[in-house]
Amino acid sequence: MRVVVTGAAGFLGSHLCEVLLGRGDEVVGYDNMVTGQKENVDLLLAADGFTFVEQDVTEHLEVPGPVDGVLHLASPASPEDFAEIPIKIMKVGALGTANCLGLARVKGSRFVLASTSEVYGDALVHPQPETYWGNVNPIGERGCYDEAKRFAEALSLAYARQHGVDVGIVRTFNTSGPRFRPADGRVLSTFVTQALRGDPITVQGDGSQSRSICYVDDQVRGYVAMLDHPGVVGPVNIGTSDEITILRLAELVREMVGSTSPIEFVEGRPDDPRQRCPDLSRARQLLGWEPQVPLEEGLRRTIAWFRVHA
Ligand code: UDP
Repeated sequence: MRVVVTGAAGFLGSHLCEVLLGRGDEVVGYDNMVTGQKENVDLLLAADGFTFVEQDVTEHLEVPGPVDGVLHLASPASPEDFAEIPIKIMKVGALGTANCLGLARVKGSRFVLASTSEVYGDALVHPQPETYWGNVNPIGERGCYDEAKRFAEALSLAYARQHGVDVGIVRTFNTSGPRFRPADGRVLSTFVTQALRGDPITVQGDGSQSRSICYVDDQVRGYVAMLDHPGVVGPVNIGTSDEITILRLAELVREMVGSTSPIEFVEGRPDDPRQRCPDLSRARQLLGWEPQVPLEEGLRRTIAWFRVHA
């Protein structure tokens, strides 16, 4: 296959490109390097079949030749980014998604959207099935990301209905693995870095809020499965049901790192989702997909990477 991946220099995007190249696909990767990492591009350029275009996907995409798949992963995704670059986030979710869908339409490609568990907001249903419409504060700090992704989902369906584009939507839940940006600000990279340095581990709020953290290899397998199942629209949750509270995660990371860092409780974030865990029935049914790497194994591999790269 010949596929376009946006956000190719990012955490998920670079892992996805690697898997696609590994199976012999040709990949054209786009990234504007706002949150992407140069090391990820260098690593991909070392493989056969990878072309990199440094461009913001909110601008028109011109890809010569045939394109079998367009996978749109470009977006800043850390709550730290929500505070700093909310307009960029909304533009890539809206204009960027429109450009990617336009490209898929012109080329007759399968289109896969990287959506998010954030579309459920501070969910009132637990675990979250795809049929749940969510509980999002559109004008809160997280609104820029949540609403951009909700708009991107709606736009994908509009292109499917009006132009017959073959769209598939993946709702990604929290993910572990190598290649997080050093100062990403998300919970796992922060806790691991703090534990390795012996700094206090900053638990926001009382730590009773939960997340379910899926290993990146499993997450990326979900995207490939979506690409390889034309006609499946979803949305499909891709994550793990290994749910853990943030306080327990802090303790576990500390234990696994072998650190003596104290745990420090700091102010919680506004609109922070209280409980997050995917219902995975649809992923099993429609994609034959199942997570394989248990939480602790994912943490072990993530910590091993940070020991070398932090
Ligand atoms: N969190 C924390 N300490 C940190 C960073 C995050 O306690 O240094 C908490 C955050 O309040 C949230 C959870 O960890 O409840 C997950 O946050 P993350 O930034 O990873 O992303 P989210 O899942 O909220 O999008």
